[in-house]
Amino acid sequence: MKRVLVAHALFPESFSAGTNKIEIIKPQKGAFSSEELASLIPTCDAFISMFNTPVPAHLLELGKKLEVISNVGVGYNNIDVDAATRLGITVCNTPDVVTEPTAELTIAFLLDLARGITRSHVIMQQNQERWGVLENIGTSVYGKTLGIVGFGRIGKAVAKRALALGMRIVYYSRTKQAETVQKEYQATYVSLNELMQTADFISLHTPLTPQTHHLIGQKELALCKPTAYLINTARGAVIHEESLIQALQQGAIAGAALDVYEYEPQVPAAMRSLPNVLMVPHIGTATRETRNAMAAMALENVVEYFNGNPLRVVNP
Ligand code: NAP
Repeated sequence: MKRVLVAHALFPESFSAGTNKIEIIKPQKGAFSSEELASLIPTCDAFISMFNTPVPAHLLELGKKLEVISNVGVGYNNIDVDAATRLGITVCNTPDVVTEPTAELTIAFLLDLARGITRSHVIMQQNQERWGVLENIGTSVYGKTLGIVGFGRIGKAVAKRALALGMRIVYYSRTKQAETVQKEYQATYVSLNELMQTADFISLHTPLTPQTHHLIGQKELALCKPTAYLINTARGAVIHEESLIQALQQGAIAGAALDVYEYEPQVPAAMRSLPNVLMVPHIGTATRETRNAMAAMALENVVEYFNGNPLRVVNP
């Protein structure tokens, strides 16, 4: 019987299938602390971590029996993958099932930034609203340019929705897409600088890697139109957060919507107090359906690994 350590309690229905050959060790509620993980990991064969579970080298080194880590999340920057590879531990993730909910949140952000829905809601709760024809003025999204940085699964799912809103799509990504794909999404490949200069809305969808760390900093933000809005549902450290705060304070861009933060769960007080930022606490995939689908896929990765059929391996 393989022992599988699970970092966080999930919905009761999450591990309902495929558990007869494995023993699951999970907290009753919330997450295991790093001390608890360190004391449990030496006896476990597999580890199901969450996208926000730090998995540093010293934890992996304690996993003397550990063969596979399955991360609940498509992003796996929380794991020291180099250390795992060095120790011969296979790392898997949960792509695809996170694509549509993350794209949904991105579009919700885009419409909210454009029309000030949350801002107006708060003003109404405070009985502070004004009802004039020239009050509460936002911006239309129809006919505007959306710049997508990172044109993978989520970037494309966002493009599909933005097309339905009548937006023009430009993208910057590591790899230029084939003509057929560009045609399908009516998307034009541009340099990052051109994207920053021309987009009315900019949405980030790269993974966090050494190459994308601080991809958007002072220089890139200075290129933006002062009317531009920035959306980040990727990873916080893709943006140099301090530069973003300055850009928002100085009006270099009109506003931002953030699901993720550079030093998550720490959010700078200066960011919290800005009137032109819309913040949520990393809810990109936080729907019950998605959490269950992510958990099922993470478990499938473990089960299939022990069946000799590794799936979704990020360090082959
Ligand atoms: P994906 O399909 O792998 O797409 C990522 C895209 O980024 C690819 O097109 C990739 O280019 C591009 N890219 C990689 N490195 C780059 C670089 N240095 N410069 C420019 N582009 C680069 O991943 P996905 O499923 O769309 O997910 C994207 C990220 O979203 C995840 O890694 C995760 O961190 C984040 N995410 C966040 C949430 C949330 O809750 N907020 C939920 C899900 C995902 P190639 O085509 O060359 O590979």
